[in-house]
Amino acid sequence: MRHVRKGYAGALRADDGTGLVISRPDLQPDLTPVVERGVVPVSYLNSYVADDEQPCAFCAKRTPHKRGYTVSLADGRIALCGHCCADRFFGKEKAAALSSDYLQRHRLAMLRQAVANLQAAIPTLLDLLTPALVQFEKAALCAVKMISHETSRFSLRHRDIPGITALLSGGAPARIAYGRERLAAWMEIDAQAVTGKDLVAVMREAAKVDAQLEIGLRFLSHAANLFDPDNFSQVNVFCRCQSGAVDVFSMSRDLDGQLTLHRHPRRHPEPWMPDPKPEAHRIGLVPDIPEWLGLIAYSPAIADELQQLADERAIARKEKARRRK
Ligand SMILES: [Zn+2]
Repeated sequence: MRHVRKGYAGALRADDGTGLVISRPDLQPDLTPVVERGVVPVSYLNSYVADDEQPCAFCAKRTPHKRGYTVSLADGRIALCGHCCADRFFGKEKAAALSSDYLQRHRLAMLRQAVANLQAAIPTLLDLLTPALVQFEKAALCAVKMISHETSRFSLRHRDIPGITALLSGGAPARIAYGRERLAAWMEIDAQAVTGKDLVAVMREAAKVDAQLEIGLRFLSHAANLFDPDNFSQVNVFCRCQSGAVDVFSMSRDLDGQLTLHRHPRRHPEPWMPDPKPEAHRIGLVPDIPEWLGLIAYSPAIADELQQLADERAIARKEKARRRK
């Protein structure tokens, strides 16, 4: 999304996405070549890093320069001003105010651009994070929580089952479901209308959601491995290897192909304790493992957006530092 002042077409080449940094300031129509002494601009319209040296409209010698501002004057004229001349001709305080006003607008434009880029990436992300993945995440979380609950409650002699413990780390929130929700919500934002503060909040949250989505996708992939029947049989091997009498887990497949988890209690090791019920205890359904095609294509588009924002911020910081010199 580019917002270039009308009549600037062709002037924009050093495109940082905001339309405020240009490389051909000379192509702007109606430039005033010479500004009378004592005239101070009302604002900076854009900044430029020109390909060729430009004559300054403010200093007596029209000093050629490559870096500067296109400024607007009270009477509506526009002119080029070399970046070294502002302090000398407008006074330090006025130059600082003009520059700070411009930087603020530039920052806001970058934020709007970043949020617009984020929004442009969202439909692709929502396509990748299919409802089937959300369902699997929900079912897988439910299944690992059930197994964890069963083992902690009934099989005190179990050590933690490694795969289950790992999958429950971090509180195991439904990250994909939450991410989808947030992505959909950001689509509703009018990036050109909301405040800078709100834009910053969106980008900050986007960074967090991006990280959560990555962890969430890893969770799905590990959960799919764990609930693969061949792999899950290793859980039973693990249980049998524990000392004392412990429960064993199994999966059974019905005619529809649906997998169900069972726990088979062993005899209680302490003879004075009554035997637990011998029959298998149905824990619950094992989630259907979805196709992973979408995930392979998941190249974190949000991460790219954030990188771009970080780059833009670095450029702005450099610009600011240079101006301070
Ligand atoms: Zn000058």
